[in-house]
Amino acid sequence: MSKTVAFIGLGHMGGPMAANLAKAGYAVTGFDLVPAALQAARENGITVADSAAAAARGADVVITMLPAGRHVLAVYGGEDGLLAAARPGTLFLDCSTIAVDDARTAHGLAAAAGHRGLDAPVSGGTVGAEAGTLTFMAGGSAEDFAEALPVLQAMGKRIVHCGGPGAGQAAKVCNNMILGVSMIAVSEAFVLGEELGLSHEALFDVAANASGQCWALTTNCPVPGPVPASPANRDYAPGFAGALMAKDLGLAVQALELAGVDARLGSMAEEIYRRFAAGEGAERDFSGIINEIRANSKTKETV
Ligand code: NAD
Repeated sequence: MSKTVAFIGLGHMGGPMAANLAKAGYAVTGFDLVPAALQAARENGITVADSAAAAARGADVVITMLPAGRHVLAVYGGEDGLLAAARPGTLFLDCSTIAVDDARTAHGLAAAAGHRGLDAPVSGGTVGAEAGTLTFMAGGSAEDFAEALPVLQAMGKRIVHCGGPGAGQAAKVCNNMILGVSMIAVSEAFVLGEELGLSHEALFDVAANASGQCWALTTNCPVPGPVPASPANRDYAPGFAGALMAKDLGLAVQALELAGVDARLGSMAEEIYRRFAAGEGAERDFSGIINEIRANSKTKETV
């Protein structure tokens, strides 16, 4: 409880996460480039610093929650960077979703500057960030994980130590590759069922209790009706936006190339969601991919 935390990146996720830390009794100093984010942070009991480096000076723990790897590496490095500003031995927690190789680079930079670090990306979205029920997937040493645990518990419910540096990002990217591929598979099956005269309810009742069962079907069902809470019932308002799925699958493809793995479905899912996110899918729930599959099928019929 006596720990001081610097929190860099007070956006949709970082804002409520930092607020939960302050609520739990941590002294939180935050920084963001956007004035509105700073104002909201002040209202949630966070002390606002003039720069990222100023926030990190004197902190026991430095948390980053930034859009992408290049932002994390940029705020870490350089004379005005977080690594130079922090006290030696400071614990760095990067909760952003970034590429596995960027996470490993971040670990290396932190270690070279005499600090310790974990990659600790999250799942659970803005709802989980606000409720303090995020899942954290952490990569780094067992000692650093043990020290970070109470801090992460103030923002999340399930905290998993996945292995060494980069293992948290690896777990996140593998999980989301399963999710992207399975949502496309479930959506294709519903569209095929429609064309074969099968009702949504009949297909759901069979597949949800058979070997087609998965989260994309039983929790985030892409057709309205069978799962009343799924985004399909509210015109595909997210939920988990297509743009975020496209981003995460882009990181999966980067990891596939790095590891030399032949994953044709993962690569194809990335292509499908990249196209979806370039259009109206950017701000729709990722289950809205079913509408694109249906529209493309109609186009084929008329050719
Ligand atoms: P966001 O764009 O709302 O927030 C990012 C914040 O970082 C912004 O407020 C931006 O101004 C700030 N920022 C950028 N560069 C900065 C810098 N140099 N110094 C200080 N602040 C800087 O994004 P978000 O939705 O909060 O997502 C953050 C991370 O969490 C991303 O990596 C995302 O992939 C991941 N994530 C998001 C969700 C979600 O549902 N939104 C879910 C899981 C994981």
